[in-house]
Amino acid sequence: MTSSFSNLNLAEPLARAVAEMGYESMTPIQEQAIPVVLQGKDVMGAAQTGTGKTAAFSLPLLQRMMAHENASTSPARHPVRALVLLPTRELADQVAQQVKLYAKYTNLRSAVVFGGMDMKPQTAELKKGVEVLVATPGRLLDHIEAKNAVLNQVEYVVLDEADRMLDIGFLPDLQRILSYLPKKRITLLFSATFSPEIKRLASSYLQDPVTIEVARSNATASTVEQHFYSVGADDKRRALHQILKSRGMKQAFVFVNSKLGCARLARSLEREGLKTTALHGDKSQDERLKALEAFKSGEVDLLVCTDVAARGLDIKDVPAVFNFDVPFNAEDYVHRIGRTGRAGASGLAVSFVAPSDTRLVADIEKLIKTKIELEPVEFEEDRPRISEQGRINDGRRMYREAEGSDQPDEPGVKQSAPRERRDTRERREYAPRQSNVARDPFFDKPYESTLSAEAQPAWEAAAKSAGPRGMSANIKPKKKVAALFKTTVTES
Ligand code: AMP
Repeated sequence: MTSSFSNLNLAEPLARAVAEMGYESMTPIQEQAIPVVLQGKDVMGAAQTGTGKTAAFSLPLLQRMMAHENASTSPARHPVRALVLLPTRELADQVAQQVKLYAKYTNLRSAVVFGGMDMKPQTAELKKGVEVLVATPGRLLDHIEAKNAVLNQVEYVVLDEADRMLDIGFLPDLQRILSYLPKKRITLLFSATFSPEIKRLASSYLQDPVTIEVARSNATASTVEQHFYSVGADDKRRALHQILKSRGMKQAFVFVNSKLGCARLARSLEREGLKTTALHGDKSQDERLKALEAFKSGEVDLLVCTDVAARGLDIKDVPAVFNFDVPFNAEDYVHRIGRTGRAGASGLAVSFVAPSDTRLVADIEKLIKTKIELEPVEFEEDRPRISEQGRINDGRRMYREAEGSDQPDEPGVKQSAPRERRDTRERREYAPRQSNVARDPFFDKPYESTLSAEAQPAWEAAAKSAGPRGMSANIKPKKKVAALFKTTVTES
């Protein structure tokens, strides 16, 4: 097995681009997938974002397309040969940016199309001719219907983040798109997990695929240190503060299960002195991009988000991911913690487990095939004063088992508790604490979408002032676009 890109004998322009990226050796998915794709075989790859899978499919496809490379200005000489489908505009944009970098020294052209943006510039680019078209399914269908995209010469199809596309409800769109493509083609499917639906999709559209799993399917990155803390709903914020402080954490993602909880938690944390912004389905596209940029530029420390809103965010080096709520869907756990410990960096994933979450934790345990031990949280202020020879107050030892702590009967995950209805969870979660926390009038008012709120919280203003640094020119926060995803996606 090779590990250096030089062993691949890539065309010089591609090898030069890779060298310029500074990649020293191939990642496991690249080692396994590139030779297989170069041979022209279909691939079913279990790989999460952050494993280097974009290069794993882009480089061999570009290499194969080099046979058709030409400098002609005629659009007819640049038909769409490779189609890369992704679930969200952010992912599509990120993948397109990477493809452009790998192809920069070739005459192969690439473009990206996704919804929520004016179709005209996309149409103009398509009309000029592009060999690699990166797209979200809905907008691609718009272009197909408008006869802007001609796909009868497509030789390669990549279904990237296929599980996410199915989650969002893109299956009918995918089926339609695939029906327009030549039957003789190479199809590559990448998914973080191999659910029965994904296997069905693969058996319908892939031919004798080579299955590649960089780690066990549904596995979580081994570089991520995972902790599950048993903590009552009312103590989660306190636990979050304490872990951030004790670990000296600068930035983190905080996942919650509902957009209502997301907005409220962000406000609470902001009020408690943490620079926080929220990312949820009620945010306009403009606001989401600005929140993201504020996080990327370090203006904001905590990004509180829902699963739907966080889909496809490629932010590297997030030192920690907190599951403020244990996800309802175990596969979301894998996606959430994939935000940290990317590309070999170490990361921390902390989940706060309320007694009623036992069954959800058992689901995660089953999915990641790893025994989960619930740990207690020992709060600093509850601890008796420590003598000179007492414990060192470092991050790890702080969470040693506390005597008489408020634990479920079993420290493991054997017992199962019925799921509570979300609204009940919500109320319990964010009821203002009667004790030492100042009363916030926000909690006395019914929830209002931040889109319509007149008075902006300070953190939103901060997010808005952040420039569009780091985002490609493809995403211009010009228009307010209320819905990033298809209407079939809902957040509670
Ligand atoms: P991806 O999983 O494709 O989103 O890639 C995640 C990140 O890893 C991207 O920023 C890539 O530029 C980077 N990357 C891809 N391949 C390599 C490699 N062989 N060595 C180092 N970084 C890489």
